Amino acid sequence: MAQQAKFVGLDVGGTTMKSAVVTDDGRPLSAPVVMDTNPERGQDEGLETMCETIRRAVAAANLTMNDVAAIGVATPGLMDIKAGLILDPPNLKPWKNVPVREHVARCFGKPTAYQNDANAAAYGEFWVGAASEAKSMVLFTLGTGVGGGIIIDDAIIEGEHSHGGELGHMRIAMPDTGRQCGCGARGCLEAYASATNVVRRAREDMAHWRGAPSKLRDYYTANDDEFTAKVIFRHAAEGDELALKVVDDTAYYLALGASAVIATVDPEVIVFGGGMVAAGEWFRSKIDVYVKRFGLPFPTRSVKIAFASLGSDAGFIGAAGCARLLVQKKA
Ligand SMILES: [Zn+2]
Repeated sequence: MAQQAKFVGLDVGGTTMKSAVVTDDGRPLSAPVVMDTNPERGQDEGLETMCETIRRAVAAANLTMNDVAAIGVATPGLMDIKAGLILDPPNLKPWKNVPVREHVARCFGKPTAYQNDANAAAYGEFWVGAASEAKSMVLFTLGTGVGGGIIIDDAIIEGEHSHGGELGHMRIAMPDTGRQCGCGARGCLEAYASATNVVRRAREDMAHWRGAPSKLRDYYTANDDEFTAKVIFRHAAEGDELALKVVDDTAYYLALGASAVIATVDPEVIVFGGGMVAAGEWFRSKIDVYVKRFGLPFPTRSVKIAFASLGSDAGFIGAAGCARLLVQKKA
C-alpha cells in the first residue's frame, strides 16, 4: 500500500507559533507544537524559531523530514503572498520584508506554500472543517479584529495586493459617520463586530441604558478590567437584556457584512469562527435570521450559516492544506 502523503502546517501569530504534521485527509498526527514568537528579538531569530517549530512538529509525529511532502506557512499581514514575504505586520514588530517562504524552503529543501493566516484558517475549514462538503465558502474570524477568507473551488482569493478577503474592512456604515476602525477609515465591519468593539459598544449602551436592571452593568461596575466580549455573551446567554441587545446588534452587523459578501461571491456556506462562536446555536441563529432579512433573496435562500469546527487548529491545518494544494486538489 502506498504511504499516505504528509504535510507540515505552521501558523505564525504575534504571540506564539503552532505547527503539526497533517495527513493527506487533514488529520493532525500530534497536538501542535507551540513556541513563543518573540518578534521583539528580531526577524533572524524569528525565522530560526519557525524552522525549529517545524522540526519539533515532525519529531512529535515520530517522523523524519523524508516523510514530509511539502510545508505550508501562514502569517498575519501585511504580506506579499506571491513573493513569499512578510512586509511589516503591526503584530510582528519590528519585522520588515522577511523572506519567509524562501527561508523555510531552503532550510528543509521542500516545496513550501505561503499564505495569510486568516486565508489559511478559511482553507482549513473548507478542507476538513465546517465547509468540508462545500465547493465555495467565506470565513469571518471574530477576535481582536475581524479577519476573513474566501475560497472558491480550491482557489483562495488572494487578490492582486494580498488583501483579498479582508472582510473586516468591508464598509457597513457611512465613511463620515461610521465608527472609527483601526485601519484609519470609518464604518468598517471590524469597527462594530470585533471582540474589542463589542466591548466598546457595550460600554456605550450601558451609559444610556433605560431598560431592565442589568447584571452585566453590575459586573462592569465591579470588574471593569475583566470586561470582555466573553463576559457579555455569557450574560446574554443568561437572559440579561442589556447583554442581549449588544449581542443582537453584533449579529445584525455581522449579517450586514455577510449579505454584502453574498452579493459579491454567492458562496455556498458562510462560516463564523473565533471566540464569540462559543456562544453557540442561539447566536448562530440570530445571525441567520438577519442574513435572511438583508441578503439578496435568491442566493440567500439556500446559503448556509455555520460555525467553525476546527477552533484554533484551523490555521496550521489550513497551512498544511495549502502545502497539499501545491501537489494536489481537495477531493
Ligand atoms: Zn477598517
